[in-house]
Amino acid sequence: MGGEAITEAAGASSGRSLLAWAPAWVKRRRRLTARDPADASRARTRRMFAASRLIVVLAVLAMAATVLSAGIGYGLARQSDERLWAEQRASLRNAVTEFRALFGQANEIDPRFVRMVEQTAGLKDLKFETDPAITDREMQPVMDAHGRIAGFFTWQKTNPMVGVVSRLIPLITGIALLLMGFAGFSLWQLRRARHVLAASEELAARAADMDKLTGLPNHAKMLELLDLNLAERAGDEVTTFALIELDGMADVNAHLGVLGSDELIVAVAARLKEALPADALCGRIGSDEFALTLTGPADVDAEAVIRAALESIARPHWIDTVVRVSAHAGFAQTPRHASTRGELTRRAELALRAAAKKGAGAVVAFTPEIDTVSADQKFIQRELPRALTANELELHYQPIVAANGGRIVGVEALLRWTHATRGPIGPAVFIPVAEQMGLMDTLGAFVLRRALSEAHRWPDLYVAVNLSPLQVRDASIVDLVRSALAESRVAPSRLMLEITEGVLIDNPDEMVKRIEDLHALGVRIALDDFGSGYSNLGYLQRFPLDKLKIDRSFVVALGNSANGGVIIQAIVALGRALGLSVLVEGVETEQQRVLLRLAGCDEMQGFLFARPAPAKAIDRLLAQTHSGSPKALTA
Ligand code: C2E
Ligand code: MG
Ligand code: MG
Repeated sequence: MGGEAITEAAGASSGRSLLAWAPAWVKRRRRLTARDPADASRARTRRMFAASRLIVVLAVLAMAATVLSAGIGYGLARQSDERLWAEQRASLRNAVTEFRALFGQANEIDPRFVRMVEQTAGLKDLKFETDPAITDREMQPVMDAHGRIAGFFTWQKTNPMVGVVSRLIPLITGIALLLMGFAGFSLWQLRRARHVLAASEELAARAADMDKLTGLPNHAKMLELLDLNLAERAGDEVTTFALIELDGMADVNAHLGVLGSDELIVAVAARLKEALPADALCGRIGSDEFALTLTGPADVDAEAVIRAALESIARPHWIDTVVRVSAHAGFAQTPRHASTRGELTRRAELALRAAAKKGAGAVVAFTPEIDTVSADQKFIQRELPRALTANELELHYQPIVAANGGRIVGVEALLRWTHATRGPIGPAVFIPVAEQMGLMDTLGAFVLRRALSEAHRWPDLYVAVNLSPLQVRDASIVDLVRSALAESRVAPSRLMLEITEGVLIDNPDEMVKRIEDLHALGVRIALDDFGSGYSNLGYLQRFPLDKLKIDRSFVVALGNSANGGVIIQAIVALGRALGLSVLVEGVETEQQRVLLRLAGCDEMQGFLFARPAPAKAIDRLLAQTHSGSPKALTA
């Protein structure tokens, strides 16, 4: 109600008050067309057509009226002329009779008599002839006293009205021809415009269903086609709905730019079409996501079809240079996994998420276990807000040791949730859910305040606190850190904030500013999980970081390949060259420790030294190391 009143008022003030007087159907149509500009334009074009058609009809009518009135005019003029002739004859007769009396019954016709008759009767070029030639002149016999024809009065017949109309005829014909030409031209234009409109309407209809880049059906169309597939599926047939997602498109974007990435998407779409059987339908439903539906006999191996499609995508592409892109896929089938479209797509989505976790090239069919994962998510969504207030969340700390000497130099705060009935739930599981739910602010503030309050226990150590990308993106993080430091009175230099690579890539300029603002508070910044994502040392230079935490995966690679040691050595050297302190995470074996120490890293963290543990256990560990007892921490 209120909204309508505002709209009406706004309409009136912007000079559209005329609409207020319009009938209800006009207002309704305006509201409807206002919703979709394409509809509005179509309605406008239709109105133009109707107007043009009216103009053509009017032109034809005008032409008909002109011709008709010319005909009628001619007829009337003729009648009027004939009337004139009859009158002239009558007045000739009267004049002859009258002037005969005057001039007597002489057989000779006196020329004066002729002139008088001519003037009285209003006849042009009247002559008396005894033997007139047969011409188009009018003639009237004159009798002598004996009743014999003495001769003829002849005169030039005039047709004043027909003459006038006849002079007008070329003009009228011209007007008629002009109108005819105009109507013909308008009709031709109308017909042409109708074709163009029909073609553009068809194009618009197709465009609404089509992904502009690849020409494949878009998301909405794909769902429509899936509905059709499900409706037409015979009882013994199976409908497969698969989702295919390309891997690492952020990297591809960074390397190829937007246009290059578009080219790659087009190339991938072509490969998909080429690899899929003719009866499969394929669409693009997201920037790097494709969907396909396939209905056929139960013995068709859908997984093999999808796998072949992924292999075809993975073959090298040529986009100014050789580009490789992998993909993963998840699928679900009717009737095996789902009976409705909603269930089928949701389950294919779950399978896709499971495939994403497995990595490049993975094809995962839906299984009920996957659904339990999402049930877990729902559980977390329900329970996490309660856990925050019910004191189920606490921090564990994992010691960080100096590579040289094995002394504990810091601790990393790691969030732990022990659910009353479910037991421990890992941060990697519940933190993404907290991010989705918008709970990360509360959770992050809790971690920061708790870590700083417990940092008092270990005055010689620094405390590392993980920040989620969502927290770093929000400028209010600076105020939070400032106030938490002020409340805890912990020296800012003892706080190390860990951020991840992804957040830097997304918005580099803003991140440089954010890191500078945090630095201004006196805290230090570490880049966590380095090498697990974009692995681009080049961009590191842009950010004023203090520490590089090399991801555990590099440590795992140490033992697996001969090059493992060389790679980590190179990364450590580069990190140090950039002036960063280098920490290696996930050190589990003595052999790794030795190799990493040789590589030149500054600090290490891992199960070899200590697992994350509650604050009290860290107290005990520190007490032991001071007394020189724990073996694990000494190098
Ligand atoms: P992270 O920051 O890289 O933390 C290190 C993770 O590696 C921890 O897992 C730790 O338990 C594990 N780890 C340490 N040493 C070893 C080792 O030698 N071998 C193996 N296999 N693992 C080791 P955790 O506690 O499960 O945390 C996982 C991730 O969750 C963390 O990775 C961090 O990204 C995130 N996380 C944990 N606590 C918080 C938090 O308070 N806030 C935010 N935003 N994220 C957190
Ligand atoms: Mg960390
Ligand atoms: Mg890490």
